[in-house]
Amino acid sequence: MEKVILARIGEIALKGLNRSVFEQRLARNMRAALSDCGACHIRWSQSRYYVEPETENFDFETALERLSGVFGLVSVSPAYATRSEYSDISTLAKEVVRNILDGGSKAGKTEFTFKIETKRGLKTFPMTSPEISSEIGGDLVETFENLHVDVNHPDFILYIEVREAAYLYSEIIEAPGGMPTGTNGKACLLISGGIDSPVAGYMIAKRGVSLCAVHFYSYPYTSERAKDKVVELARIVGRYSGGIKLLVVPFTEVQLAIDSNCREELSTVLMRRSMMRIAERAARKNGCSALVTGESVGQVASQTMQALYCTDNAADMPVFRPLIGMDKMEVVAVARRIGTFETSILPYEDCCTVFTPKHPKTRPSLNEVLEEEKKADFAGLEDTAFRGIEVIHC
Ligand code: ATP
Ligand code: MG
Repeated sequence: MEKVILARIGEIALKGLNRSVFEQRLARNMRAALSDCGACHIRWSQSRYYVEPETENFDFETALERLSGVFGLVSVSPAYATRSEYSDISTLAKEVVRNILDGGSKAGKTEFTFKIETKRGLKTFPMTSPEISSEIGGDLVETFENLHVDVNHPDFILYIEVREAAYLYSEIIEAPGGMPTGTNGKACLLISGGIDSPVAGYMIAKRGVSLCAVHFYSYPYTSERAKDKVVELARIVGRYSGGIKLLVVPFTEVQLAIDSNCREELSTVLMRRSMMRIAERAARKNGCSALVTGESVGQVASQTMQALYCTDNAADMPVFRPLIGMDKMEVVAVARRIGTFETSILPYEDCCTVFTPKHPKTRPSLNEVLEEEKKADFAGLEDTAFRGIEVIHC
């Protein structure tokens, strides 16, 4: 039995003339994801990718796990391939089903139900899809006396695809969908040590966007360990986005200036505006055309509609907020799934929490914020912060 992996694309299939750009990039990303699984050949035709091992010890299990995280794919299946001849398909079907029944028997099961779903892509094949399903089904029921057909609630489905070769499989593993990383430009993620911003980075990366990240760091008010935590979060998000260049901005002087010169209830929005200005400079320097944050409407005082308006106004670049309409519980569920949650909840302080005012203004007006910004030399402070950026490749 020749073992292969079938991988299916989602949205890329809807692309027009530029489809091949997306297909080639996806193949490249798949190759990168499988780089340590052993030699294999990747090819594609129509909406299918075929991963064909070129070595005996190809690591299928790891390969399936990796591919099920590749953006652009909607599902993957371990499959067996044979010639598109009825007798070959029937022989292979028996072998595949024997494996499934053996597995079930070991778990104590004695009777099995199944159904067959056939897709015939090879129009010259002399039988229709329903004919293939029914004939192969007959062969199987004859061969295994503890096997019965149940089209409504089968224990397993045997899928048969008849193309230039025939592929048989029973398992479909979900993949994330989205667009291949690297096909939709580059954005700059404002990453804190919290739960939200890594999820925001993941969601935008899922749309094929490459990322760089900025983190504002207020030493000694925030510790070295708080920074390490952000480096770890960036590393995890980077696994999905094809790596991340993390820019760590020394932000203490800006925060101290706000703290000692400006009205306390506006300090958060002033801080956020300063972050936006510095992030935008870093973004432009690194070829990014948008900023990304983990804000969602109404989550905290700085995320009311009025506060977001004031924050947006400081940036001259689109600000993407992929979590804008999500509840915290939904964000947490994604964080758990992508593997950032456990790191995000480590109890190290963030620069925002250290300088949080007791009564932040939930409805700041842009005018009063602009007035307040005259009270400190933000341009000079931000310039110094920008020049002090430390670069970490995660
Ligand atoms: P998170 O869980 O991501 O920390 P949050 O709910 O704590 O978000 P805020 O602290 O108000 O919300 O921050 C809102 C957004 O601003 C964050 O999602 C992130 O994009 C950005 N941000 C906040 N603090 C920092 C920081 N120290 N460095 C970089 N970006 C930050
Ligand atoms: Mg935060």
